[in-house]
Amino acid sequence: MRDPRYDPLFEPVKIGPVTAPNRFYQVPHCSGMGYRRPQMMAAMRGMKAAGGWGVVCTEYCSIHPSSDDMPFPHASLWDKGDIGNLRLMTDAVHEHGALAGVELWYGGRSSANMYTRVPALGPTSLPNTAWVGMPVQSQAMTLDDIKTLRGWYQAAAGRALEANFDIVYVYANHEYLLHDFLSPKINTRTDEYGGAVENRVRLVREIIEETLETVGHRCAVAVRYSLPPEGVDDSDELIEMFKIIADLPDLWDITVSDYSLEMGSSRFVKEASNQAAVAKIKSLTSKPVVSVGRFTSPDTMLSQINRGIQDFIGAARPSIADPFLPQKINAGRLDDIRECIGCNICYAYDSLGSPLRCTQNPTMGEEWRRDWHPERVPDKHANESVLVIGAGPAGLEAACTLGQRGYPVILAEAGKTLGGRVTLESRLPGLSEWARVRDWRLGQIVKLTNIDVYPDNRLELESVLELETQHIIVATGSSWRTDGIGRWRQTAFEGCDHATVISVDRILAGELPQGKVIIYDDDHYYLGSAIALKLRALKLAVVLVTPEGRVAGWSSYTAEQHRTLKALHEAGVELVTDKGLVSWDGSKATLECVFSGLQSSIEADYLIPLTARLPNDALLSALRSQQVQFLAAGGKSIQGVGDCIAPGIIAAAVYSGHKAARELGDVNAGSCDVPRDTIFVNNPESGN
Ligand code: ADP
Ligand code: SF4
Repeated sequence: MRDPRYDPLFEPVKIGPVTAPNRFYQVPHCSGMGYRRPQMMAAMRGMKAAGGWGVVCTEYCSIHPSSDDMPFPHASLWDKGDIGNLRLMTDAVHEHGALAGVELWYGGRSSANMYTRVPALGPTSLPNTAWVGMPVQSQAMTLDDIKTLRGWYQAAAGRALEANFDIVYVYANHEYLLHDFLSPKINTRTDEYGGAVENRVRLVREIIEETLETVGHRCAVAVRYSLPPEGVDDSDELIEMFKIIADLPDLWDITVSDYSLEMGSSRFVKEASNQAAVAKIKSLTSKPVVSVGRFTSPDTMLSQINRGIQDFIGAARPSIADPFLPQKINAGRLDDIRECIGCNICYAYDSLGSPLRCTQNPTMGEEWRRDWHPERVPDKHANESVLVIGAGPAGLEAACTLGQRGYPVILAEAGKTLGGRVTLESRLPGLSEWARVRDWRLGQIVKLTNIDVYPDNRLELESVLELETQHIIVATGSSWRTDGIGRWRQTAFEGCDHATVISVDRILAGELPQGKVIIYDDDHYYLGSAIALKLRALKLAVVLVTPEGRVAGWSSYTAEQHRTLKALHEAGVELVTDKGLVSWDGSKATLECVFSGLQSSIEADYLIPLTARLPNDALLSALRSQQVQFLAAGGKSIQGVGDCIAPGIIAAAVYSGHKAARELGDVNAGSCDVPRDTIFVNNPESGN
């Protein structure tokens, strides 16, 4: 039963001619599915509607072939085929009484048009920003081009109607074409579309008016607009422009013009970060306003509505981590909410051009391919017991899912605390929210009477076999290497067995070096910088050495490299790039330039190599060597999950544990099976 306090979150809200059934609004967000994987996208969005999101939107949706974002699979509304594709989504969303929104998009200088090969358009000709250093520029639009573009918008809005959308967006931010017309720095035109604020806002105003005219009260028109996170006073030109169009559309979707804040990782940005900008906009319009803020707490959501900051609870990541978040609030099941941890792995995989995935929600992206439901698992296939060894993210997820299926489960963990790497890493600066991976699963496990948890129980081969369970799932994790083998070197470095070489595992376990430290980071994700910041906070001198040109390279995909580097610089961590580790003599590291081979050295008291991990697979191998006897004695299956078979990101460990547990007893499943492939309804790349 819903706590009546939360009633305001479930009020219907009018958006122009349509009415949202509640205030839960999945704003447009990338999915890595788009035009290329239409069934996958429809099923994923439909699942959110099933979970209670009152509005569910597409990702950015190209209005015309002269704006593509290859290799990223955005949505598109170029032709009849696209209408058919997107109807799959609107049908899936409407089935649950939610409204479907489409974010009509034109790229400009932020899309490189690598598929269509036509120069991107812009108010002026400027270098492309889709890729670092992309050696092409946009083409300055003539007045005829502007007229043509307006026609494309109108035609796409018509197709959006045919695809049965309820909300059509005009997308005027994120440095795409319409944003560039608003910008005084980029739009230096001298005609009626440049110069004064009335001129720079002209194109956005015309497109809003013409979209309204095209859809003619059959659906609502929303505008995505952004303000600087700081400086939202009345003198800001974006405010002046906003005032001109404040009451034109039916809804405002507000963001801030700093992506690392708007969708900041939890390391650096906390819940409700856009609040100041959103409240400012809300005070200037009579139309409803939505914005994101990685809202996972129902009380924070309520406070946003009660204080009049915004009218909807906008969400991308919280709806990915828990598609059923609204329903859980409605049913009074607050402790079942699977809270987003703000790791941005969802964004990373989209940025890599692949379907999104989620650390907390292993079913994300698998709704259609594997028929996985985030809240439902198949019943156990037989009355057989399962032993899960190791309570890191993989083991916890496996035990939890098996318990939900009805299996009797024993979960044994060597350590006194549960959570494995998540517990250890969540103690590093900024990573406390990552403990939600452990806490959500433990919260589910305590509700199940068929799971027995045994911390402080390191199992060996004999003790495992003595338990006589029919199934064994090994989730014993991995250990950080200390020999420097990784991406840059494939052999151990000279001096790797020196006493002053400290493993990452020892640091994570709480050991603190006393003196100057070199962290040799050939991992390139968050751990090197997080350890560096922890040691700096203890006033140790820290040098972070990497063979790459920039520290924390992979974290550019999670949109946190910028803030990581800022934090490292501000903390006074010395950064050394383009250098590989050659040797360590106990007080001096010899380094080599990865390009020239020129050698240099740095003196320090300790060296922490952060390069690669070794799977902890000894127990799994021992069990496999006993497989024949195990099966003969009535055993059914032995398998490894998570880092003990393939060390990787936490999301991969959770997924692996989930898959093994969901498919236990399914004769068609295997660890290397291939999911259902996309059936192309219409693929622009095939020229349809
Ligand atoms: P993953 O990411 O794959 O879940 P983790 O390293 O986070 O891996 O977790 C592995 C867990 O397994 C750790 O908590 C570790 O203490 C536990 N473990 C390792 N070996 C054994 C064992 N023989 N018996 C019980 N628990 C074990
Ligand atoms: Fe949140 Fe991480 Fe899941 Fe993205 S991947 S929704 S940031 S938990």
